[in-house]
Formats: sequence, structure tokens, C-alpha cells
Amino acid sequence: MKQYTVLTLFPEMILQAFSHSILARAQKEGHIHIDAVDIRAFSKNKQKHIDDYPYGGGAGMVMQAQPIYDAYQSIPHEKKGRFIYLSPQGKTFTQKIAQELSEENNIIFLCGHYEGVDERVLEELCAEELSIGDFVLTGGEIAAIVVIDAVARLMPNVLGKEQSFQEESFSYGLLEYPQYTRPPVFMGRAVPDVLLSGHHANIEKWRKEQSILRTKQKRPDLLK
Ligand code: SAM
Repeated sequence: MKQYTVLTLFPEMILQAFSHSILARAQKEGHIHIDAVDIRAFSKNKQKHIDDYPYGGGAGMVMQAQPIYDAYQSIPHEKKGRFIYLSPQGKTFTQKIAQELSEENNIIFLCGHYEGVDERVLEELCAEELSIGDFVLTGGEIAAIVVIDAVARLMPNVLGKEQSFQEESFSYGLLEYPQYTRPPVFMGRAVPDVLLSGHHANIEKWRKEQSILRTKQKRPDLLK
């Protein structure tokens, strides 16, 4: 079983996100387990503050090192593993990184808020930084949900038989071919004949050609 632990100020956001559909089933069946640890519970002050003004001045607040450090230390040894801080400054998340992370048994994710987190806790805990794209979110939770979703679905037995990631976009550096389902004609648009032919070799050939064509049209950068 794969274990994902998320250090967050909003545990409900994480737990809610994984309480539906495929990843809820994967948890019930014991393929993955997702925990959320509330960083605020580790605040040492009466008001349960976890942030403070930035040294040197400037707008916004910074998450303090101590509650994050203590939240991390509260995780049992057997659940410790790679430690990833979701950050717009990190390496950009890709399908290749999702594949690599799907081989890890334990991953801990840290979600920042406000202006981010005190740099020293990232250094102390040797955090890797991962970004979901060149834009800035209000917090790391949505980014953690994106990463966990993409990683967990690659685990054996998580996707049902009816779904497959083998031929999916990015798996072979190409986008996936177009998909069709019933009815054979919709608003005067017919499904390509080859898909109704039952000729498997021709269908495979057509799909390969379509994959290349789509990638050329939509994401020529992938072909480089
Ligand atoms: N001041 C920070 C900066 O300029 O780099 C941005 C902080 S952002 C408002 C608050 C938190 O959202 C970050 O600590 C991070 O956890 C998360 N976050 C924002 N954008 C993200 C992205 N593109 N990928 C992953 N996490 C992101």
C-alpha cells in the first residue's frame, strides 16, 4: 500500500478531495492511504497562530518553521519518505515525474499559504520543491491534490479494468488519439469507419497516426 501524508492548514480540503470516485475506492480497497496532518494543531501559542510578519518587511505573512517541523516529526517513522513542498518555485510536475513518484511507498507533501513558508524548515527537512505550473495559487492544497491524483492512478489496481493509462496522453511522449462512443452518428458526425471495421491492425495504425497528427497540431513542442 502507498501512503501519502499531507501537512496542511486545511485537512478537510484534502480528505474531501479524495472521498469520491476512483481514489475513494482505491483507499477502501487498501491500495493507497491518504492522511492529512493539521499544522495548526502544532502551534505553541494560545491563539493557534502559525504565521508571522516577514523579516525585512513586505506584504503578507510567512508560515513559521516550528509548527511545520513539529507536524513533520509527528508522522510515524514507517510513514516517512520523500518530502515534497508544493511551490511555484519548484520543478514543473509532469507525467514522467508522476510515474517516478508512483514507485515511492511513502510521500509527505507540505502545503504552504500566504507568502509561503520560512526557508529554514525547508532546508532542515531537505524538502524537494514541486510546482504544478507557472502561476501562483493561494495555497498548496490544490497542487497536492493534483499531484496525488496523477500519481495514485498509476498504481496497479487503482484504475478499473475499463480504464487504462498505457496509451494515454504523455505516456509515450504523444497525445492520445480521439475517442468515440455510441451512437455511431451524432449531429450528422459519423464515427470514423475504421473504428467500426473490427480490423484490429488497421485500428491500431489509425490510432498511431492520429496520435502523431494531434500532437503536431496541439502540442508540437512534445515532438521535439
Ligand atoms: N510568495 C510565494 C512566491 O512568490 O513564490 C508564493 C506563495 S503562494 C501565494 C502560497 C502557497 O501556494 C505556496 O507556499 C505553495 O505551497 C502554493 N502554491 C502556489 N502556487 C503554486 C504552484 N504553481 N504549484 C505548487 N504550489 C503552489
